[in-house]
Amino acid sequence: MTALVIDGKARAAALRGDVALGVMQFVAVHGRAPGLTVVLVGDDAASAVYVGAKGKATREVGMISSEHRLPAATGQADLLALIARLNADPAVDGILVQLPLPAQIDADTVIAAIDPAKDVDGFTPVNAGRLAIGQPALVPCTPSGCLIMINDALGNISGAEALVIGRSSIVGKPMAALLTAQSATVTIAHSRTRDLAAHVARADIVVAAVGVPHLVQGAWIKPGACVIDVGMNRIALPDGKTRLTGDVDFEGALARAGWITPVPGGVGPMTIACLLANTLAAANAHHGSAA
Ligand code: NAD
Repeated sequence: MTALVIDGKARAAALRGDVALGVMQFVAVHGRAPGLTVVLVGDDAASAVYVGAKGKATREVGMISSEHRLPAATGQADLLALIARLNADPAVDGILVQLPLPAQIDADTVIAAIDPAKDVDGFTPVNAGRLAIGQPALVPCTPSGCLIMINDALGNISGAEALVIGRSSIVGKPMAALLTAQSATVTIAHSRTRDLAAHVARADIVVAAVGVPHLVQGAWIKPGACVIDVGMNRIALPDGKTRLTGDVDFEGALARAGWITPVPGGVGPMTIACLLANTLAAANAHHGSAA
């Protein structure tokens, strides 16, 4: 079997198209576009690239993008004061604080200060709790995008064996909650898991979110499985250049899986598209309309 390679770029473009339509409807009704504000503290190069990409995508769907770039030495009190102002600003529908934050700032405290109704990353304890107990929530963007691709591939996943590798609060745990909500039988593997290969071999759905290049070997994959590779690892090539690669041995898995996401071009583009969808949903919710 040769897996169907899921085109995350194309799927994300379709989702962004849906969001752009929703934005036009929002503008027609409310006379203004939804607004997403991104807060970046410090000058981490990768974070600056992510923030730039998010701003561009936000503008492309017709929403208002604003950025607050603060110096690396910014204190926690100043950042919390900015969050309070953004929480109170009716033109701001979504607030995203780019992580990581400098060492003098406690990220958990800052995230918890974001109004849950504007928490388009879905990282506040309120939204994480709502997701955990099956209430409507703003859901973290990366697992949301993964779920869309899984549903596209498999349709109804009730009863399917799903393996989530990684238990972070931003990917692994919410991914497991989303799959559980759709009645998959979910296993979470992590750094202490014994015999990862045996877990992978049982899984109809594998979501790898670890950060270890090619941890998941192709030969482990159950024939026909849907494999979603969240990992984004930059590896050195013999010629001195670098390239991005995932947590899954793509070539090996291609021969056994039913569906597989490439890295790059799979999960990454979907993450940004889901951020835009969350911002539109937050804006609609502020006005009491359905998302
Ligand atoms: P994290 O470091 O917070 O968590 C990694 C998890 O992997 C931990 O729960 C750990 O227990 C588990 N783990 C470590 N070694 C393991 C092993 N040998 N076997 C099984 N589990 C093991 O990472 P994260 O923030 O969840 O991100 C994971 C990966 O996904 C990273 O490569 C990151 O760059 C990528 N990522 C991509 C996107 C995207 O949009 N494409 C978004 C978020 C994260």
